[in-house]
Order: sequence, then structure tokens, then C-alpha cells
Amino acid sequence: MPYYIVVLGTAGSGKTTLSGSLREYLEDHSLDAAIVNLDPAVEKLPYDPDVDVRDYVDAREVMEKYGLGPNGALIASMDMLALKINDLREEIEGLRPNYFIIDTPGQMEVFAFRETGPIILNSIIGENRRASLFLIDGLQVVNPNNLLSSLLLSASVHARLAYPQINVVTKTDLIPGDELGKIDEYFEDPYSLAEALNSPGYLIWSKDEIELLLEKLMLFDVVKVSNVSGEGLDELYAALQRVLAGGEDYY
Ligand code: GDP
Ligand code: MG
Repeated sequence: MPYYIVVLGTAGSGKTTLSGSLREYLEDHSLDAAIVNLDPAVEKLPYDPDVDVRDYVDAREVMEKYGLGPNGALIASMDMLALKINDLREEIEGLRPNYFIIDTPGQMEVFAFRETGPIILNSIIGENRRASLFLIDGLQVVNPNNLLSSLLLSASVHARLAYPQINVVTKTDLIPGDELGKIDEYFEDPYSLAEALNSPGYLIWSKDEIELLLEKLMLFDVVKVSNVSGEGLDELYAALQRVLAGGEDYY
């Protein structure tokens, strides 16, 4: 039975780059991996997709035909894709890799708020073992308030999909050592993040509540990677193994 790895995160967080580097990593370890590109608006891919949603819907065409902007066209394209889901699933089921890597569009409302994201993913994956990777742009989360909102967004996606989820901080090669050390400290000790938040007095939570909230949000595994140097991919693979091969009651 194949394992499914869904790569999610905001635009520019590194989903497409990670999808490619993860496939290479798995292949270097004698594992067969196929990439499904689920982003109908992507122009250039650094990898050669095994299945490409652009064969089913063309976001640019949708934009012109319905007079929509890029964001609206993406959302409409995903709705149209949901109508063709049986064909897409059949194409995917025709492949027999050890792992499927699903590269998704960065419009988070599709997965965090709208029905189409979960419908599409659930019908592709069926009853197979799955894990979601929620990518967090490392350059953004040196700011503690950005880290808090990234963790909340990650939890919103998890609330909808309910897959075992791993938070992946990307672009570590671009983060200076001392900033990287701070990010480590936040993840090791939620209280240090609570402490570092700007103007906690303006937030709707008391300090105790923020600490409790952060403790819960930190229950997700977290891995730091550079998609460029490959640093952290060993740890990511180990975390995926725990989630995919582990017990049902992981969360
Ligand atoms: P996506 O929108 O989430 O699919 O993000 P992409 O994979 O397209 O990456 C956005 C930009 O960030 C591209 O220019 C990538 O080359 C760059 N990028 C992604 N991951 C890394 C990383 O780990 N390190 C560095 N230095 N750049 C990265
Ligand atoms: Mg992408």
C-alpha cells in the first residue's frame, strides 16, 4: 500500500521545492516516490510531475473565461477539479510507488476553510496511510507573532483534514545562526515564545491562556529543513516514518 504525503503551506513557503527534494531523497534511499502536482496555477516546476492537475484544469484559462483574478481563478479551478476527481484518482491509482507526494497550491482557504481541499485530498487518498506536512517559511517566523499565527494556521488545516501533521520550518540555510537558535528555543519551550510575543496585552488571551495554547500547538512534531542544502531531510524522513508507520492513535 502506498503512503501519501500532502505538502501544505502558504505561498512561497517552499512546498514545490520540498516536494522535489523529498522525492530525490526517497529515491536516493531506494524508495519509489511519485509527485502529484495539485497546483493548477503553477507556471514552472523544478521537478517532472508524475501526475499534473494542469492536465485537468487550467487556472489561466479559468481566469480569462470568467474574468477572475488569480486568487479567484485558483479557487474556481479547485472547484472544477473536484468535479473531475474520479478521473484524477484513476490516473493516480494507475501508479504504484511506495510514496505519493502531493504538492498543493498556497491558497490556504482551499484547505483551511472551503470544502474542496479536503474533498479532493480525501478522495485521492481514500483509506491509505497519510501525513500532512505544514510548511512554515523560516524567514517569516523569526518574528514570534508570525510563528504564533503560523501555528494557528497549521492547526486550522489539521482541524479540517485531521491527518497526522508535521510542522516543517523551511529555508534554514537563509536564517542566521542566532535567529535559528531562537526558533529552536521557541519550539523547545513554549513559555519562551509566550514571553517573546509583542504586546501580549493586546491579544485576546491572558498570558496563562497563551502558554496553554502554545503547549497544545507545539504537540505537532516539528522539523527544520533546508530544501537547498538538504539539511534536515533525514529528520523529516524519520518523523514521517513515525507518523506513517506508527499507531493509529498518533494524535
Ligand atoms: P511554494 O509556493 O510553497 O511552492 O514555494 P516554492 O517551493 O516555489 O519556493 C518559493 C521560493 O523559495 C523559491 O524561490 C524557492 O527556490 C525558495 N526556497 C524554497 N525552499 C527553500 C529553502 O529551503 N532554502 C532557500 N534558500 N530557498 C528556498
Ligand atoms: Mg508551489
